[in-house]
Amino acid sequence: MKIAIIGAGWSGLAAAVRATRSGHEVAVFEASKTPGGRARSFNAMLPDGRAMQLDNGQHILIGAYHQTLQLMREVGVDPESALLRLPLTMQFPDGCGLKLPVLRAPWDALIGISTARGWSWTDRLSLLRAAARWQWSRFACSDDQTVAQLCQSLSAKVIQELIEPLCVSALNTPADRASAKVFLRVLQDSLFSTPGGSNLLLPRIDLSACFPDAAARWLAARGGRVALGQRVQALTPQSSSWRVQDEAFDQVVLAVSATDAVRLLEQTEPGLSASAARRLQSWRATAQVLQFEAITTVYAYGPGARLRQPMLALRSDPANPAQFAFDRGQLNGPAGLIALVVSASSGELAATEQRVLAQAHRQLGLDLKKLRSVTEKRATFACTAGLQRPGMDIAPGLRACGDYVDGPYPATLEGAVRSGLSAIT
Ligand SMILES: Cc1cc2nc3c(=O)[nH]c(=O)nc-3n(C[C@H](O)[C@H](O)[C@H](O)COP(=O)(O)OP(=O)(O)OC[C@H]3O[C@@H](n4cnc5c(N)ncnc54)[C@H](O)[C@@H]3O)c2cc1C
Repeated sequence: MKIAIIGAGWSGLAAAVRATRSGHEVAVFEASKTPGGRARSFNAMLPDGRAMQLDNGQHILIGAYHQTLQLMREVGVDPESALLRLPLTMQFPDGCGLKLPVLRAPWDALIGISTARGWSWTDRLSLLRAAARWQWSRFACSDDQTVAQLCQSLSAKVIQELIEPLCVSALNTPADRASAKVFLRVLQDSLFSTPGGSNLLLPRIDLSACFPDAAARWLAARGGRVALGQRVQALTPQSSSWRVQDEAFDQVVLAVSATDAVRLLEQTEPGLSASAARRLQSWRATAQVLQFEAITTVYAYGPGARLRQPMLALRSDPANPAQFAFDRGQLNGPAGLIALVVSASSGELAATEQRVLAQAHRQLGLDLKKLRSVTEKRATFACTAGLQRPGMDIAPGLRACGDYVDGPYPATLEGAVRSGLSAIT
């Protein structure tokens, strides 16, 4: 088949790699000049004029991202050298919090919880009991339960120091609104499934080099087209094919964000049968009501600034908005470069930056100057309890893929990659 893939984010590139492997002729159309979508890097400069790459937002992968890691290997990136593998840690600058030892599941979680610093036995037992209950119920719960409801038997300390940071980093949605069902799925796959599933994988090379650039090269070497700087404005159905950028395709995979998909589909109904047009309208209506959460990454610099480990959790509240700090000097940046991440961020950027820098001073003892901030207003869909997500099939010969398409995961690289792979049959 001749397949058009619209969007060269991680989902579109995953679809393109699978389609090429299956022997299809593939053309990828990407609006931006660089592939990678929300997970890519850009050129930046240090105060002394040194050039460097920054990521569109600091990302974390985990060991349970099996499809993503496999796909990186397939396009020639070695995850073991590209990503720094660490046991799951949710530790604060004072050393309190959870750090799992290097052991097989579930022993890593059991021993990590039993030895968490700064937690009383009441805290530890509340988590061990809840974990046993979740496992007993096979990590199932009702669709409309929130993470806060799921965790109400836990001690306040465990909620503040583990559940809330874990929930906001995995689902980018505060616990009082976040879906317990999706949260439990993330816990199950990371903590209780495969060895190393809960490991944190921190990029040691920039995000574009982690997959998008390598995938684009891999496709080009196999005759695939990746047309950058080409925003598709319309999709035109024909009798048994689709026209994209004045070319006929047997199948189209729409690998853009939910918002862009809705926009593109606004003009698409003429030419479809009545039943196909109704299906498309219903898909669009489901995608249209998704809500989004922002993420702000503040890149800050201080000569000699260093964290005691590559990633630390921060104590977060409205006056201290960042939840995590990353020492890019220990990862892929110059020494002294710290990335401070505000998940589910809101409010004015300048005020957020000021609070984050003051927080770094108070909690990390670092005097940092802002280098560059990136706010992605629609970083992820709000992964709320009871949420209905649009499915993969839009109309005959037209499919959607992306992190927002119905699936077990929240908006993550693994969710995007899995969706891209399953769009190609
Ligand atoms: C700041 C930030 C931090 C994050 N942190 C993490 C993390 O730590 N771990 C994690 O797993 N995930 C994280 N995520 C989520 C992850 O980045 C996304 O889930 C993933 O990148 C989504 O990929 P996608 O292919 O579905 O969509 P996108 O990346 O949005 O790709 C869509 C592509 O389509 C293109 N496009 C749109 N319209 C058109 C058009 N009309 N014609 C042609 N092209 C078009 C866009 O330019 C874009 O390149 C984070 C996201 C952000 C923004």
